[in-house]
Amino acid sequence: MKSRKLLMIPGPIEFESEVMQCMAIPTPSHVSPDFIDCFANSLKLMKDVWQCPSGQPFIIAGTGTLAMDVAAANLIESGDKALVIATGYFGLRYAEILKRYGAQVDILEAEVGDIVPLELIEEQLKSKRYKLLTFTHVDTSTAVLNDAKRIGALGKKYNVLTILDGVCSVAGEEIKQEDWGIDVVLTASQKAIGVPPGLALLVASKNAMQVFDQRTSPVANYYGDWANWLPIMKAYENKQASYFGTPPVNLVIALEKSLQLILKEGLDHRFDRHKRAGKAMRAAIKALGLDLLSKNEHVSANTLSAPLYPSQIDTSAFLKSVNQEGVILAGGLLPQLKNNYFRIGHMGSVNKNDLLATVGAIESALMNNGYSHELGLGTTQILKHF
Ligand SMILES: *Cc1c(COP(=O)(O)O)cnc(C)c1O
Repeated sequence: MKSRKLLMIPGPIEFESEVMQCMAIPTPSHVSPDFIDCFANSLKLMKDVWQCPSGQPFIIAGTGTLAMDVAAANLIESGDKALVIATGYFGLRYAEILKRYGAQVDILEAEVGDIVPLELIEEQLKSKRYKLLTFTHVDTSTAVLNDAKRIGALGKKYNVLTILDGVCSVAGEEIKQEDWGIDVVLTASQKAIGVPPGLALLVASKNAMQVFDQRTSPVANYYGDWANWLPIMKAYENKQASYFGTPPVNLVIALEKSLQLILKEGLDHRFDRHKRAGKAMRAAIKALGLDLLSKNEHVSANTLSAPLYPSQIDTSAFLKSVNQEGVILAGGLLPQLKNNYFRIGHMGSVNKNDLLATVGAIESALMNNGYSHELGLGTTQILKHF
């Protein structure tokens, strides 16, 4: 087992072996009775995990970017005004997607490592009548966490549809879609949901489905059109076979398994475990004398961390060195700061041992690349938090 490495990037993550076993079973027909039950159950379990009992779930083959694209394509008509609250890379991507469908897009951009203050968002919503706003729950490029509850409430107050990019947060950070009044919460399978890449997952509120129903122009994306997918989801929910595009059968079976595991752990317990992992990792990084890209504890995500390199270090050799220590980490994602920081994913099945191994590998790699420090200061923090 000497070659086995620990994958600690912000997706894909380490998957549970019970989930991986679903990927290896002989692929059943997508219209077989067992698979129809599995699809129906996966849709139902999504509503539980999203905490959105009256929502309409969609399971579509694709990535998180497709989930973003689908939400935009179905809710935007040419000329609609949209507001993007951007905390980094994926917020700006959302602005590009919305523009493709003819939206007039304004962007409120946060300083790197920070969120956009709620007062600024409210001011913007007061100043102009928007149809829709998008925001990122956990920004994977900066490890910043937005206050989804309060932004959801602002959306309700100003009667603006809200789309939450939860690709790096669903099943990792607390989300109560229905209570918080968020119209679309979307994610991808390979992050905190804990299933190999390939599923675009989203739940739309009643309100969002009504806005979709009232469209006066056709959806400008054939594959993503809810008019094509809604009958399929409804059919499976009613335990009937239906076809628009072949579902990725094994991935859906794996999704059902993972959602069952998530709910078996219990959502509160799971969010708590992520909080503890995030806190422990940030404390470990700081104990080693490194800073984080996220500005303070209040705006720091619990599903990943983004430490800044110390100035003494050979940054090009660092990640390779961590890899030789048996742990795979990710580089920076923000183009302007790419070589100033790295990223550690700690979501999904992550446990104390993973964190210890990761911090241990970081400590060794720092030592081997010109940054002298006392070994064990980081791992001590992990032990203290668990
Ligand atoms: C990963 C990620 C995406 C993109 O997902 P893909 O599956 O890579 O298309 C979008 N938004 C956020 C917040 C992400 O973390």
